[in-house]
Amino acid sequence: MILQRITDFIWHRLTDLMQGELKQAELGLLASPHLHLSLLARRRATMIVNRVRLFAFLFAVLTPLWSLVDLVVFPFPLWLNLALLRLMAGAAFASLVLNYRPSGELFDAYRALALLFAIPTVFYVASYTLLGHYQLTGMSAAIGAGYAFLPFVLLAGLAIFPLTLLENIVIASPILLAQGIAGSMRWATLDWPSFAGGFWLLVLITGVSTLAGMSQLAFMIALVRQAIRDPLTGCFSRGSAEEVLELQFTIANRSNAALSVAFIDLDHFKKINDSFGHEAGDKALLDMTDIVNSHLRRGDLLARWGGEEFLLIMPNTDLAQAQAALQRMRNMGFGMRPDNTPLTASIGIAERNADQTTGWKALVELADQRMYLAKAAGRDRLFYHSPSH
Ligand code: GH3
Ligand code: MG
Ligand code: MG
Repeated sequence: MILQRITDFIWHRLTDLMQGELKQAELGLLASPHLHLSLLARRRATMIVNRVRLFAFLFAVLTPLWSLVDLVVFPFPLWLNLALLRLMAGAAFASLVLNYRPSGELFDAYRALALLFAIPTVFYVASYTLLGHYQLTGMSAAIGAGYAFLPFVLLAGLAIFPLTLLENIVIASPILLAQGIAGSMRWATLDWPSFAGGFWLLVLITGVSTLAGMSQLAFMIALVRQAIRDPLTGCFSRGSAEEVLELQFTIANRSNAALSVAFIDLDHFKKINDSFGHEAGDKALLDMTDIVNSHLRRGDLLARWGGEEFLLIMPNTDLAQAQAALQRMRNMGFGMRPDNTPLTASIGIAERNADQTTGWKALVELADQRMYLAKAAGRDRLFYHSPSH
C-alpha cells in the first residue's frame, strides 16, 4: 500500500519533469520497440545507421593511427602484431562505412549496431591475449593497461544511439557477460576487489548510457509526433502522408491490392475567411476534420495536404468502395459555414488498379486533376474518372 503510494509519487514526479516532451501513454515506447509506429521505426532505423557509420568512420581512422604510439612504447614483435590487428579492425570499420546505407529497416539497423560492437570486442579479446604474454613496465605498462578500457568506451558509446531500454539491455549484456567470464577464468590470480570495482563501474556506465539513449529516443518521439501531425487540425501532415503513400504503394504493388486516394478541396473557403474572419475559417477546418475522422475506416488516413485541401488515403479499397465511402461522407456533410449553410467540397478519386498508375505521385496527381474537374463542373461533387477514360 505504502509502496504503491511511493511508486505513484515518483512516477508522477518523473512525468511532471518530462512535461511537454512525452505524453503518459507514450512512455511505454521508451521501454521496447514493439509499439513503435512504422514512421518512428523508419526514422529511428535511419538515424541509428547514420550514427553507426559516423562512429565506424572515426574508428576506421583512429584505430590504425594508434599503431604509432604502440611502435614507440612496445617491444618487437608485440607492436607489429598489434599493428596488424589494428589494420584488420580498421578495415572492418571501413567496410562498415562503405557497405551500409540507411534503408529505413530496423533489422538492418540492428545488424549494423551488432557489427559496430562486434569489431572492437574481437579486437579487445585478441589484443588482450597478445598483451598477456608480456611483462610490461613503466610507460609501456601504462599504455598496455589502456587496452583494458575498451569495454568502457564501448558501453559509453551506447549513449549516442536512440535506443529503448530493452535494446540497450540486449546490446550491453554480452559485453558485461564477457567481462564477467573473463574475470572468472582468471579467478585464481585475480585481484578481486579491483575487478569488482571495475565491473561495478562498467554497470554504472551502462546505466548512464541507457538513460542517455532513452532520453534521445524520448526527444525523437516528440519531434516525430510534431512532424507527423498538423498542429491546427491534428490530421497527418503532408510530409508524413507522403511517407505513408510511398509505403502503401509498395505494399499494394507487391500484393496487387487496391489502393484509393481522394483529394478533397473545400468549396469557396476563402469567403469564410473574408466574411467571418480567419478564426471562423480555422473552426470550420477543425469541424470538418473531426467529422471526416470520426467516420473513417480502420487503416484509412486523412492528411492535410494544403490549406483547405485534404488527402484521404484508403488502403485495400477499390474504386467502387472508395466512391461509396466518399458519397456517404458527402451525404453526411462536411459541417456548416458560419452563416449556417452547408460546407461543401469538391472531390477527386483515383485508384491504383483501375487507373493503372505506376507510382503514388501519379495517383495523387490524378485525384487532384479530377478534383479540379469537379470544381469546373460546378463544385460540391465527386469525380472518379477522367473524360478520356
Ligand atoms: P474553391 O471553391 O475554388 O476551392 O475556392 P476556395 O476559396 O476554397 O479556394 P482558394 O484556393 O481560392 O482559397 C483557399 C483559402 O483557404 C485561402 C486561404 O486563406 C484559406 N486557408 C488556407 N489555410 C487556412 C487556414 O489554416 N485557416 C484559415 N482560416 N484559412 C485558410
Ligand atoms: Mg477550396
Ligand atoms: Mg484549394
